[in-house]
Amino acid sequence: MDLDRRQFLQKAGAQAGLVLAGARALEAAVGPTDAVPAGPSFVQSASDVVVIGAGAFGVWTALSLREQGASVTLVDQYGPGNSRATSGAEVRQIRAAGRDELDTRWSLKALETWRSRLQEWGRPELLIETSLLRLSVRWNEAERTAKAWLDRYKVPTEVVDRDELARRYPQMGLEGIEFALIEPAGMLKSRQCCQVVARALERQGGRVVIGRVEPGRRSGGRLLDVVLTPGGNVGADTFVFACGPWFRKLFPDVMGNRLRTPPGGRCFFGTPPGDNRFMHPAFPNYRDNTTGFYGYPALSQDYRGFNVIGGGGGGSGSADPDSVDRMMAPEALKRARDFVALRFPALKDQPLLETQLCVFDTTATGQFIIDRHPELENVWIVGGGTGRGVKHSPSVGDYAAHRIVGQDQEPELTSLFQLGDTTFE
Ligand SMILES: Cc1cc2nc3c(=O)[nH]c(=O)nc-3n(C[C@H](O)[C@H](O)[C@H](O)COP(=O)(O)OP(=O)(O)OC[C@H]3O[C@@H](n4cnc5c(N)ncnc54)[C@H](O)[C@@H]3O)c2cc1C
Repeated sequence: MDLDRRQFLQKAGAQAGLVLAGARALEAAVGPTDAVPAGPSFVQSASDVVVIGAGAFGVWTALSLREQGASVTLVDQYGPGNSRATSGAEVRQIRAAGRDELDTRWSLKALETWRSRLQEWGRPELLIETSLLRLSVRWNEAERTAKAWLDRYKVPTEVVDRDELARRYPQMGLEGIEFALIEPAGMLKSRQCCQVVARALERQGGRVVIGRVEPGRRSGGRLLDVVLTPGGNVGADTFVFACGPWFRKLFPDVMGNRLRTPPGGRCFFGTPPGDNRFMHPAFPNYRDNTTGFYGYPALSQDYRGFNVIGGGGGGSGSADPDSVDRMMAPEALKRARDFVALRFPALKDQPLLETQLCVFDTTATGQFIIDRHPELENVWIVGGGTGRGVKHSPSVGDYAAHRIVGQDQEPELTSLFQLGDTTFE
């Protein structure tokens, strides 16, 4: 049930008078609009909550907070779903099977939310539903676990052997493959999804602002405001940082060793002229457990080519998401092409049409981090997507927003998502 704003303020323990005055000043200053640059009009404006970062985690957390009655300002340095953001990829996959009960349950819940909200906003085409071929050499523990969770939630699956795979998908090379588990999956037009959620926030009275944020003044274990580039500062009762791979730069003491940001590559190979065997719906999403590569077919929504992800982006260690060039390194491209030659021989001499380098935000625990900043009680950290954040983002946003307003609906998850002591070093 949505809370009205007064209830929100009571629940969140806001300093109601101050915050309301600030929020009204902002409402008067800036009408409903697309993302606006920060500037003088923004100085001393305030919301109940400022969310920093308009990737998938930030937009959904901001919308969910707004729908619970909070006045919300969403700030991003480059704009919602921008090309540097990890959510800025054209497509991210959503699949039903997770590695554990929570992963599966949240995926299914998120898929339902993506479906219904995109429908409500008149953009159902941003979710393309398909299936996923999980290709393996043998029936192993990971596949057994995935199937068990899917069975538990009555998600239809199929297990097919090599002969059946060869009959259904003669365009695929099956060297080293003995069977596949097939599960429901989909492709989310990730960049556009972030923008659509940000627009929904604006329609509901939230603000979307372009600006680079630095944490500002502190007092009594609280953050009083954030400082914006190109100018101004914003006060709020609560600050939510949803900064993906930028967390190591923003909070080096807290996140430096809890997060790694390795580059990851994705490429699109051409398909032969007039050949639709590698296009949706003739071919599904795939995940090759024998090589670690995965991807999705050429989409008839945009005809960009056959997608291949994996094999690293080139380079090692953590990349700087602001400055890293978004081209894959030659050795990473070669690994992708070798994989294509092995698994999709008809594409082996096709041209590389496009590549993109994205930056992961991988936690030491493998879990998301949704927790308060250890020194600032009104600052929340929502991040650590760890290769699966876009699909889960409606569930993450809903969960985080409920915790932030003191309405935690799954208290048993607090310790799972805590900052904790597990680090990379
Ligand atoms: C190669 C690759 C493949 C992947 N495949 C999948 C997949 O198939 N399915 C899936 O669900 N997930 C996948 N992921 C993971 C997923 O993309 C991420 O988990 C998710 O995008 C993280 O979203 P986010 O909102 O936390 O971060 P981001 O999307 O990176 O958003 C962070 C935002 O914060 C802003 N920001 C940062 N610092 C500041 C600041 N100081 N001031 C203002 N703004 C700031 C940035 O501009 C950015 O817009 C993949 C990731 C990679 C790298």
